[in-house]
Amino acid sequence: MVITRKIELHLVHTGLSDEEYDQQWKFLHSINDNLYRAANRLVNQLYLNDEIDILLRYNNKEYMELRKQLAKKNLDKPVRAELKEKEKLVLEEIKAHRSAIFQRPYASVAYSMVTSQNEANIMTKILDVLKQDVLSHYSTNAKEVARGERSISNYRYGMPIPFAFDRTEKASICIYEENKKYFLKWYNNLRFELSFGRDRSNNQLVVQRCLGISNDGAKYKACNSSIQMVRKNGSTRLFLLLCVDVPKEINKHIKGKVVGIDLGLNVPIYAAVNDGPERKSIGSREAFLDQRASFQRRFRSLQKLQMTKGGHGRLHKLEPLERVREAERNWVKNQNHLFSKEVVEFAKKVEAEIIQMERLKNFGRDDNEEIKEDKKYVVRNWSYFELQSMIEYKAKRAGIIVQYVNPAYTSQTCSECGQKGIRDNIHFKCLNPECNCFGKDIHADYNGARNIAKSKEIVKD
Ligand SMILES: [Zn+2]
Repeated sequence: MVITRKIELHLVHTGLSDEEYDQQWKFLHSINDNLYRAANRLVNQLYLNDEIDILLRYNNKEYMELRKQLAKKNLDKPVRAELKEKEKLVLEEIKAHRSAIFQRPYASVAYSMVTSQNEANIMTKILDVLKQDVLSHYSTNAKEVARGERSISNYRYGMPIPFAFDRTEKASICIYEENKKYFLKWYNNLRFELSFGRDRSNNQLVVQRCLGISNDGAKYKACNSSIQMVRKNGSTRLFLLLCVDVPKEINKHIKGKVVGIDLGLNVPIYAAVNDGPERKSIGSREAFLDQRASFQRRFRSLQKLQMTKGGHGRLHKLEPLERVREAERNWVKNQNHLFSKEVVEFAKKVEAEIIQMERLKNFGRDDNEEIKEDKKYVVRNWSYFELQSMIEYKAKRAGIIVQYVNPAYTSQTCSECGQKGIRDNIHFKCLNPECNCFGKDIHADYNGARNIAKSKEIVKD
């Protein structure tokens, strides 16, 4: 699986004269100014070549006749095979015709066209990577383009500058570590220092793993990456878009072992398995409500301030409000990261093959589209789409399958015998005298999670 990390870069000035440093900036700007034009030329050329093929075919009477016959239904198998054979021959003829007019394979034409007009002296090494990128992107979309469902890609000024790491001994293009700082060595002796900022997404660890120097010993492989220049208010910021190939963890799985995740009433998340006693509650409702209340207090006091001193300078007072909202969103996101990590770690520990969650669509709603009483708190207060998608990609990385189940009845039926029971906020009671659970107080969230783990009602959409 390939992931991309965005890391700010600072062009290193140390060891360079001011003039050399300016020269390096000029070099970067000249690439940036011309790269998108090269990309557009390449993609246009590829498209034109495909269109010429179509043109040649449609001008060939024999070919068109064959297509017409092949389009008929109820053709006998041998007849169809014969027609197909003829079509193959005609296509070869067309191809020969084509190469009589255009002697060189078109990808190479497009390429030399760009290099010959390489007025900005975009280095051939960068052009090589650009060509690969444009080609692979073009061929991914070629079918849709041919059907007229989309038009060809348009590259814009400021597109990331692609490059490949040098894997030879001399490693002229590489990331390296020096005195606990990380640098990118690039073309034309450019050197950038990687700046991780607050590093919420652990980018430094990713870089360490690429270098094989992380404490956990994990090894990632850095793939073709790019540098993006962002001009804003007269200054230019540089970012490394580091693409990393993350190996799938190899985990032991017990076939048919399923972890069910209930987005619960008493705790934010409850996890249980389909065939055993393992269970785990994740997060605390109190902590969540406290944090939430504190955000709301901050919010209200700011709002009050805004009301009392209306008019003049109101815009200035909106900013702190937006900042509180932002802080709250970040907090939720951070919690989701922690929760999803715990969910996947639990699944790994019990060696589960599958994680099951309730389907998002109509989440927490009953058949009448009303939000069910027991889900009101989570639906109103949490970003569950985000949480579920985080669980999904973290599970995928660990080689665990994620499935969604129909949420109906998960809280009202007994996870032991499948009969309907009764529940209050905290407990579930089975009413079936034959059942092992009869007369016991079962944790309601545990019961729900186990029902989800056991559910066979998998929903695909
Ligand atoms: Zn029961």
